[in-house]
Amino acid sequence: MTLFDKLTLERRARLTAERRLDQRNRELDAALAQLDQMRIDLHGLRQNGRASALEDAQRVVEVQSKARAETETAQRTATMAERRLWDSINTIRDGFAVFNRAQELVIANHAYLDVFSGIPEVQVGISYRRLVEILAHEERVAFDGITPEAWTQTMLSRWEHEHIEPITLVFTRGDTARIHDRRARGGDIVSLVRDITETQRYAAELEEARERAEAANRAKSAFLANMSHEIRTPMNGVVGMAELMCDTALSDEQRLYAETIRSSGEALLNIINDVLDFSKIEAEKLTLHPEPFDLERCIHEVLILLQAGARKRSIDLLMDYDLFLPTRFLADPGRMRQVMTNLIGNAVKFTQTGHVLIRVVGIEAGDFAQRITVTVEDTGIGIAPEHVERIFGEFAQVDEQANRKFEGTGLGLAITRRLIDLMGGEIWVESELGKGACFGFSLTLPLSEDAEPLTAEPIRLARVMIAESHLINRTILERQLTAQGVEVTLCASGAEVLEKFEHGQGGAIELLITDHLMPGIDGLDLTAKLRDAGFDTPVVLLSSNPASVRDHPAIGELRAVLQKPILRQDLLRQLQLSSAPGGLPAIPSADAAPTPGPLPRLGGGRRMRVLAAEDNRTNRLVFSKMLDGLEVDLSFAEDGEQAVEAFRTTKPDLVFMDISMPGMDGRSATRAIRQLPGGAQVPIVALTAHAMAGDQEDILAAGLDHVMTKPLKKPLLLEMVARYCPQDASLPAPSLDRTG
Ligand code: ADP
Repeated sequence: MTLFDKLTLERRARLTAERRLDQRNRELDAALAQLDQMRIDLHGLRQNGRASALEDAQRVVEVQSKARAETETAQRTATMAERRLWDSINTIRDGFAVFNRAQELVIANHAYLDVFSGIPEVQVGISYRRLVEILAHEERVAFDGITPEAWTQTMLSRWEHEHIEPITLVFTRGDTARIHDRRARGGDIVSLVRDITETQRYAAELEEARERAEAANRAKSAFLANMSHEIRTPMNGVVGMAELMCDTALSDEQRLYAETIRSSGEALLNIINDVLDFSKIEAEKLTLHPEPFDLERCIHEVLILLQAGARKRSIDLLMDYDLFLPTRFLADPGRMRQVMTNLIGNAVKFTQTGHVLIRVVGIEAGDFAQRITVTVEDTGIGIAPEHVERIFGEFAQVDEQANRKFEGTGLGLAITRRLIDLMGGEIWVESELGKGACFGFSLTLPLSEDAEPLTAEPIRLARVMIAESHLINRTILERQLTAQGVEVTLCASGAEVLEKFEHGQGGAIELLITDHLMPGIDGLDLTAKLRDAGFDTPVVLLSSNPASVRDHPAIGELRAVLQKPILRQDLLRQLQLSSAPGGLPAIPSADAAPTPGPLPRLGGGRRMRVLAAEDNRTNRLVFSKMLDGLEVDLSFAEDGEQAVEAFRTTKPDLVFMDISMPGMDGRSATRAIRQLPGGAQVPIVALTAHAMAGDQEDILAAGLDHVMTKPLKKPLLLEMVARYCPQDASLPAPSLDRTG
């Protein structure tokens, strides 16, 4: 190898080595640079970590201080609230304390502790027992008539019950408190001591005021009773005389005056009665006096009294008494009559034409009672829905044009509602303005023990014809007769009856019951026409005014005249009599009867003897005029002594006895008569102007049988006469009936 070659080789090797060295240097630089970078990163990282830890620490400090602030605020608020609550509890006059389950005092306000003032032992932690003992020992309470030991025992045993009864304590320092103790959660007992000194003083004042008011009220009632008596006595004369005057021949002008006197007198009496009743109800002085009474008859009597007024306006008064409903119940007759008078009276008052229909139905309520429902339906002016609610209120009247012309106090329905309430019933009204109203009430009434079955004797009639233009009445009659097994032919007019007879359908008819007033041919003309045509079928006339038929030539052809509305009893009796062989003797014609007045006599017995004791001359006159026309021997006594003497000498069948008379009064006279031979049996009817509750019992207790209140009502007086007409005497008038 040449040197050159050697040199070349060497240079090449050196160059290679230098290149490698270069390479290594570059790698070293890169590693160093990486290291530097890492160092920088590391430094950065280290820097960051230190900052967040600092922040965290700072945040912790902040939260801690905020929490501390909030706690302090909350504590402050709580302390303030507690202080405020406690201040409040301390300011109230009522005592407040809490005891724990061991019955030791936990907290108590000043008012509670006040009664223990000056006793250092009384502090939080003291037991309830000890507190009671201190009160007793220190005599800080009044023991109310018992020993301190007994009082302590009572106070301690109270707390043994789950429910602790309140108790009233009178403290010797002069105040009174009511203690209410309640068990709270966890066995605590909260005690509240309420100061009732003021309340008690107020209650005592009220009690005193009440007693004064009651005394005043008693005085008022006595005054009202006296005034009622004083006003009624002369009013009896005014109304009775005016009524009698109306029955005489008068010019139109005189009749107007007489009727006005009568109706104004009656209106005045109604007002007096309403006000009297209302004041009694208000004073809760009104009590009911149940006794056996006849519901059907009661309604009937009311209808008869209202008949005259209804007739003037051609309103039909109809009664539909449930066929199978007994009539005798136990109830206060006077109050029942008042309810009926008010409802039926209103119905008649507010009706110009059409009818007033009284329906009575009942369902059994237990063994000896019936739930009866009475409805009074009219075809009058009706009541607008917005007024319906308030008409049962006091002094409530519907104040509208249509209503202005009707008089009244607006008390009737208020009294009626209260009476029905008192009897345990309910009352309602349904009405459509312009169409009519229907008032109804329901009550449970015990049956009277003397209730009899309606028909005793059998009815043997097979076919009866009814002539009645009024549909409702026709239907009622049809039902009543069909229920008795009678076959009924209905006619709506007299013409229809005649037609049926002419067509041979009258032959089998055993009795014709005809209404008096019918459009076309009336009942009396119909009877005359039948007789003229040769038919002698017996005829019973139904009339709302029997007195008005007296002078008709056909009267002698009638078998009987029945007063409308008809009592079921009267109708059935008529059917029974008509089924009897030969029937009743026909009533002789009116021509045979003396005029004016006396109605034809039935039967040929002696005349009934009636004695009336009455000290007031006007009242004697009214009385005699009311019985005028009856076939009775009427005698008068002017005081009690004369009455006893008259009884001894004339042996009357019936005595009417005025109660207040000078010298021997009606009660004493009755007692004296009851001692005389025959005196125990004679019916004695009291006449009294006293209308207060309690008067009636007094009178009945003196041995009288009935009480009639003045002013006397002719129909009721006549009914009394008829009721006590003895069997051997002739009935004083055909329209009367001897029913009891
Ligand atoms: P009064 O009849 O004395 O005004 P009520 O208390 O008996 O008092 O009746 C109150 C009111 O109720 C009457 O004034 C009348 O407006 C209304 N009212 C009562 N009954 C009827 C009726 N049958 N038809 C229409 N309105 C009646």
